[in-house]
Amino acid sequence: MSESAKLALAELTTMGVGGVPAEMHEAHSREELIELSLQTWKAGEDWLLLGGGSNIVAADELEELHVIRVRSLGIESDNHPEKPVWPTKQIWRVQAGESWDGLVAKTVEAGLAGLEAMSGIPGSVGAAPVQNIGAYGQEVAETIVRVEFLDYQTRELHILENSDLDFGYRDSAIKRGRQGVITWVEFQLENHGGLSKPTESTQVAQALGLQLAGQAPLAEIRDVVLRLRAAKGMLYDPQDQDSWSCGSFFTNPIVSHSFARTLPSEAPRWETEADDGLTVKLSAAWLIENSGFTKGFQIAGSKAAISSKHALAITNRGGASAQEVVQLASLVQAQVMNRFGINLVPEPNLIGF
Ligand SMILES: Cc1cc2nc3c(=O)[nH]c(=O)nc-3n(C[C@H](O)[C@H](O)[C@H](O)COP(=O)(O)OP(=O)(O)OC[C@H]3O[C@@H](n4cnc5c(N)ncnc54)[C@H](O)[C@@H]3O)c2cc1C
Repeated sequence: MSESAKLALAELTTMGVGGVPAEMHEAHSREELIELSLQTWKAGEDWLLLGGGSNIVAADELEELHVIRVRSLGIESDNHPEKPVWPTKQIWRVQAGESWDGLVAKTVEAGLAGLEAMSGIPGSVGAAPVQNIGAYGQEVAETIVRVEFLDYQTRELHILENSDLDFGYRDSAIKRGRQGVITWVEFQLENHGGLSKPTESTQVAQALGLQLAGQAPLAEIRDVVLRLRAAKGMLYDPQDQDSWSCGSFFTNPIVSHSFARTLPSEAPRWETEADDGLTVKLSAAWLIENSGFTKGFQIAGSKAAISSKHALAITNRGGASAQEVVQLASLVQAQVMNRFGINLVPEPNLIGF
């Protein structure tokens, strides 16, 4: 493990905000990640695990924070050449510091389905279960079998099965407060002869001339998804200021049928499964645009702005402070609350506020 140069989190996060922490160490293997985490916890410091920094809004002042950068690499599969029959399913164990999109690219090259619609999501493999990442009809909860988890409370290593992670929409037991470190993730991938899983995204299906639930070669799904994402500024690109963000800044609200009936009929809505009676998912982007914000909106004098390509992303137009990002997010929340009575919930992790 090594102590990194003390970079500001502004340089290590896609949102591009955040001060210089007290300390920063890098863990280059599972063992280092475990040792470093235990040491930091023992010292009783404020700590942050940092993967790719694509879902973090860090405060401008972070003098007390100890950062552990997860850089552990390695991918193993259970596909042994001596197995007589090509398996229809394969388990891949992937270390937390691997790049998410690098992993997706490898599964597509290997002809294995399960992650293809999540092409182009920035960040690391270890962070993927935290908010159950998802896009274009797939969620990572559908493919994760188990993770290895170093528990902050017990300081012990546990294997958490999929059901232990209690996944929900952009949510998991870890996001809800079970603190600790994911050291590796196991995925179950499927062999459909080079084809994708049945596509559950209308946009992807339309782009490929498929019916919903149709299948296409994995590489075609990946190409279409990358193209759709780039057009919305949802592919992180240092040259594209619309992607200097955390992706979607708010989750799509889920409300009851009776509440949904009070909204204008043109408000987009989808039936969704939920066990607490809240069963209609709304479009946060539509709510934002219909409460008075246009794409590209900026508070006068602020360097934070709503993306000019997607109303759901708050972006840094160069040199914004964390305070400016949070101020814009609060204004959006207040206006959506005033207009529709809905509290938009931020998706990124707010650190040090
Ligand atoms: C342009 C853009 C587009 C995006 N599009 C999507 C999208 O389509 N769908 C989607 O779901 N998300 C999307 N995101 C959000 C983000 O990419 C994901 O949430 C991603 O999983 C974050 O990974 P990361 O490694 O960057 O995590 P970080 O930002 O480094 O960390 C996020 C959280 O996870 C914790 N964490 C990190 N590593 C570990 C670990 N090993 N163990 C335990 N906790 C850990 C951190 O402490 C923090 O709380 C987008 C972001 C951007 C910038």
